Amino acid sequence: MTAEKNIADKQKKRRQALALAAAFLCAALLFYTALGGALSGSLGQTLEGPLPDGAQGPAAARSMGKALRPKPVPPDWEFTIISTGDVMMHSPQTKAGYDPSDKSYDFAFMFEHVAPILREGDLVIGNLETPLAGEANGGYTGYPMFNAPEILARNLKDAGFTLVSTANNHSLDRRYTGLCATLDHLDEAGLLHTGTFRTPEERGRIAKTKVKGVSVAFIAATYGTNGLTLPAEHGYAVNYIDRDRLLDDISRARREGARYVIVMLHWGLEYQTKPNQEQTGLALELLKGGADLILGNHPHVLQKGEAVHPQELFGEGADAKDEKTRFVMYSQGNFISNQEGMDRNVSILLKLTIGVDGATGETYFKEAGYIPIYTQKRNPQGASRHTVWPLELALADLEGGGGAFGAGDRAILPKAWDYAVKSQPDLDLLKVAEHSGSPEASDWQD
Ligand SMILES: [Zn+2]
Repeated sequence: MTAEKNIADKQKKRRQALALAAAFLCAALLFYTALGGALSGSLGQTLEGPLPDGAQGPAAARSMGKALRPKPVPPDWEFTIISTGDVMMHSPQTKAGYDPSDKSYDFAFMFEHVAPILREGDLVIGNLETPLAGEANGGYTGYPMFNAPEILARNLKDAGFTLVSTANNHSLDRRYTGLCATLDHLDEAGLLHTGTFRTPEERGRIAKTKVKGVSVAFIAATYGTNGLTLPAEHGYAVNYIDRDRLLDDISRARREGARYVIVMLHWGLEYQTKPNQEQTGLALELLKGGADLILGNHPHVLQKGEAVHPQELFGEGADAKDEKTRFVMYSQGNFISNQEGMDRNVSILLKLTIGVDGATGETYFKEAGYIPIYTQKRNPQGASRHTVWPLELALADLEGGGGAFGAGDRAILPKAWDYAVKSQPDLDLLKVAEHSGSPEASDWQD
């Protein structure tokens, strides 16, 4: 992180120097005006006789001076983004949330240990990799054609999510009608979404929201939809990855006033821990084209996240307007799933801090860090109970003899921690205690 910090600091210093120069210029102008006013006042007295109480001379200058007094530059502020991996819903997860007493579903327990962290983010985003098409639309199913109970939308919202991408290879698992019903259910839950669309008009709008007064835009696209296609009249309904179209949408978002543009891409190869050339190539083009942040998903395992400096995009002679550090996260793995294998159950919460220039309203990259997380699939009694844990809290439970985990998880947890940390050499490891208000977490502060 030192390199990123250095560049962010340099950019910050440059902005501060500019603000200082502007303030100095204003002060000089004010002094000159006051001086000029005083001089003309005394000249006026000499040549045209005394002015009543000297009111129109120095006083006029004083009031001019007031109008010219430099406004104090508002201080910079910041907002945070927390990003997660794929929200998968395999059949055992759906069953784990079923209550036979009233035949209802509820998945709130899945997120209870990470929700205090998520709720502290100003913007919390993930990839929803299942339709929420309603039980009447072919029943609730898992892999390979997903359809999860629609209460999942409410559970994600309550856990702290702001927005989900719906563009992924499972977008059409319940075809166009399922795609539309999914968006209806997200709307009902108050969860923002982008990447799939019910109407051409909806496709024609760039998703935007204000975060601490800053307009943030979202664009999401997928490499494909598992061979399922849309009827011609609904061809707009899924945003497929198309470089030129993505660049157009990024430019449009900027023209429409977005100060921060996030592109969420469903791409890459499953179970590959390194991004391929298609990912790295497209990322550079989109970052050059004005994207501030690229969030990738689909491989189901972690790939690296890294800051991208203007020199890497535009060469050493990068001019001032390009002097902005961007960020790409190639893959965040699974946020939750029933997949087997440690690498598919370990993930991170990526946390970015974005600065906002008080004078110009422009955004800039400040820092990136991560919290390792782990999906526990069974409770100590062996019953299916999928729960996302911050690994730090899971290890604390292990050490403190809290008994939250069965033998299988107990053996894996320390390795899972090492795996997560090794996957992100360029990012700061964050302590849960510093990012969560829960008493459970504050016990962990060192
Ligand atoms: Zn996928």
